[in-house]
Amino acid sequence: MSSVIESMKAVQGDITKFEVDAIVNAANHTLLGGGGVDGAIHRAAGPELVEECKTLGGCKTGGAKITKGYNLPAKHVIHTVGPIYSRAGGEAPELLASCYRRSLEVAAENGLKTVAFPAISTGVYGYPIESATGIAVKTAHDFLEKHPDMEVQFVCFSERDLAVYLKELKSYRE
Ligand code: ADP
Repeated sequence: MSSVIESMKAVQGDITKFEVDAIVNAANHTLLGGGGVDGAIHRAAGPELVEECKTLGGCKTGGAKITKGYNLPAKHVIHTVGPIYSRAGGEAPELLASCYRRSLEVAAENGLKTVAFPAISTGVYGYPIESATGIAVKTAHDFLEKHPDMEVQFVCFSERDLAVYLKELKSYRE
């Protein structure tokens, strides 16, 4: 059993309501807003968020960029761009892992301790939830081993996704 497991948890909810140091946004290359969780985050943060995003020059797949949280309860938003599953081919797992790793690195560089993630790429971008969850948990686990002062929450929109995350986390306890 790893003690790092105590620093990761899966919960069901709307990520825009989370009062943490940073929520992660599953954004697109433009960083100028979109559908799904991206749209929800921009609506809840208010129009100042897109104004700051306009100054960032977009983001590549697997990269991460930070902004303030504006009207969100979260202090910051870390915008990452997940792979489009049907287009990324064999690079999809590494690109998805990079989203989690880079987001956590950006959080650490900014002194942030609590980070909440949505299930990146598993909506419109089509990444199968089971394999995406395996990558999310493993990448966060490896990062937290080196950063014991940080905490990760996986915010699942659906009960089904929550069940997948809980099963994956349980496998680390055994
Ligand atoms: P992507 O384009 O990276 O696939 P989506 O926004 O389409 O991003 O979906 C990513 C995940 O975010 C999906 O599991 C979706 O159900 C979930 N999601 C959508 N809205 C919210 C929200 N408000 N809070 C948390 N998760 C959300």
